[in-house]
Amino acid sequence: MDLKKNIQYIKGVGEARAKLLNRLEIYTLEDLITYYPRAYEDRSKPKQIEELADGEDALIEGIAVTNVSMVRIRSNMTILKMNVRDDTGICQITWFNQPYLKTILKKGNVYRFYGRVNKKGNRVEMNSPVFDKEDNFKNTGKIIPIYPTTYNLPQTTLRRIIENGLAEINQKLPETLPNYIIDEYNLCDINTAISQIHFPKTFDDFNIARRRLVFEELLSMQLALFALKNQYTKDVKGIKFSKDAKMSDVINSLPFSLTKAQLKVLEEIDLDMEKEKPMNRLLQGDVGSGKTVVALIAAYKCVKSGYQAAIMAPTAILAQQHLESFTEILKDFGIKCELLISGITKKKKEGILERLKNGEIDIIIGTHALLEENVVFKNLGLVVTDEQHRFGVRQRSTIAQKGNNPDVLVMTATPIPRTLALILYGDLDISIIDELPPNRKKIDTFAVSKGMENRVNNFIKKQIDSGRQAYIVCPLVEENEEINAKSVLELAEDYKTKVFSNYKVEYLHGKMKQKEKDEIMEKFKNGDIDILISTTVIEVGVNVPNSNIMVVENAERFGLAQLHQLRGRVGRGEYQSYCILKYKGTSDVIRERMKVMTSTNDGFVISEKDLELRGTGEFFGTKQHGLPEFKIANLFEDIQMLKSIQAIALGIIGKDPKLEKEENRLLRKLIDTKFGNRIEI
Ligand code: ADP
Ligand code: MG
Repeated sequence: MDLKKNIQYIKGVGEARAKLLNRLEIYTLEDLITYYPRAYEDRSKPKQIEELADGEDALIEGIAVTNVSMVRIRSNMTILKMNVRDDTGICQITWFNQPYLKTILKKGNVYRFYGRVNKKGNRVEMNSPVFDKEDNFKNTGKIIPIYPTTYNLPQTTLRRIIENGLAEINQKLPETLPNYIIDEYNLCDINTAISQIHFPKTFDDFNIARRRLVFEELLSMQLALFALKNQYTKDVKGIKFSKDAKMSDVINSLPFSLTKAQLKVLEEIDLDMEKEKPMNRLLQGDVGSGKTVVALIAAYKCVKSGYQAAIMAPTAILAQQHLESFTEILKDFGIKCELLISGITKKKKEGILERLKNGEIDIIIGTHALLEENVVFKNLGLVVTDEQHRFGVRQRSTIAQKGNNPDVLVMTATPIPRTLALILYGDLDISIIDELPPNRKKIDTFAVSKGMENRVNNFIKKQIDSGRQAYIVCPLVEENEEINAKSVLELAEDYKTKVFSNYKVEYLHGKMKQKEKDEIMEKFKNGDIDILISTTVIEVGVNVPNSNIMVVENAERFGLAQLHQLRGRVGRGEYQSYCILKYKGTSDVIRERMKVMTSTNDGFVISEKDLELRGTGEFFGTKQHGLPEFKIANLFEDIQMLKSIQAIALGIIGKDPKLEKEENRLLRKLIDTKFGNRIEI
């Protein structure tokens, strides 16, 4: 048996179908048998017609009490109908455009039908069900797997191909988990797992198979992450930053005193930096908790020890802003900061790259532009990535490779539950700023549905009249016929010419040129704009303490974590701040979400709720987080399993850090095959 066998040569495939399977990322026999169903239809036991509920998918068994009647309603449309009866009732079956059924199905025979039930009063119907004849149950009498598939590759075909693949395996897969683990955690063997995940006889069988596969997937991922962490902490020689470069020098020069939490985190960072092994630390802290200044102080220590620091931010606006606060505070220390973003002229860029290379620039602050190949450092010592949830693991290492094992500090304002942090950032040590600077006023949050427009607008006017500024965030850039939501351009036009015509209204969105965006942001910072209408480009990190109102249009379209981020744009100065969430819709989930936002300002509470209300998929948004992709595990459903696996993985690594013992040979192989190119143990 060859698991790497090209899919084309599996029975029932061939050249054309191989192409279709490739679209599903199935290239080999192994890919095929690990292509798991996305759902199962329970066609195992017929239900009584009387019991059927409207809208459910169900199997019935009954005798045909009529022949199939056919009505042609248009030249290209025929409707076929037949009635079937069991002991409890009658069900009318309907098909469209399948005239051949007339000769196949006969009055007096017993059939099974599986399909969606349509029930109105006592009338029970099924449209276009799958059917079986009594003496030949092919499509029913079992649990049927449903696969994600692609155009031109019907479920039945894919199912048959997978059956053929399993037949070729013939229960002879080599075991992938060590016996001691299988015994200790009561798992089924790999062959049982693979065959039952596709074709379980009962849902118990399915659960047994799934548990084993999820266990294996989570365990290998967690072991790989711990191994990755070991790779950093063991052996690797990094930079030992100087004890004489004292963080306290810059701390004492700040216009405010640091919070206890900031000081504690800085102590952890200081210790890391003075050790020889490279720092790999995640800094979690709610919006406004003051992470930037922590990064700045670390960068100071790095520069004073004779190295360069790189600060990577997800947007140009944010990079710009960091540059300003860094320059402001560090100017008295003779430290040279520069900005590198994609918008700048070629000539200017060349100059910066040159000075970076020869060491004239101490701290470079930039966007993804820093990742480019031609960005070369003289001696990069510290890499800080801000708002990490926007960068992946790969980008983090791309920039770190520009130095010789530099220290790495990753900052994020998305508080995530600890279990998930261990996965997302399993390779990092974690520091948390769990306290906001003093005198921050709670941001008053209101959720308003329609009919409050005037009151809200008058409120904004009153605040602006007393000197403040407002943000208004819309989900769309321009009007879109398909999406019923407010757009930046539409609203800007309306507000400029009508509602707020006496005020200075400007707008900002991601499709604008960098230069335009910078100009607008600059004007907003200087107080030359009263109302800034924008998309979520404003979400990350922007700091304008004089603005105290955040209005979110169509708040129902944003995730809780995102709303919390947006809200964090205000409440940054001395003024009482407000967040107004305008929402549409009446569903429980929307109401619940609005309630969460109005009742707490605590990012951790909000993230737990977000996870609960949306599940991990949406919680993490896209794949760019560097989160490993799972074939079968679901971080939300399997969170309990994940917790135990984390403990198990720690136990294994604790006893055998490099997985060298014979008993762990299979675990090591698992990690090598799955993550081999990314991790060396
Ligand atoms: P975030 O953690 O969201 O990145 P910032 O670093 O942007 O937060 O900090 C928000 C604001 O709070 C900034 O204006 C910053 O100067 C200020 N700040 C940071 N630490 C303190 C502190 N200890 N006391 C007072 N203000 C602080
Ligand atoms: Mg920040």
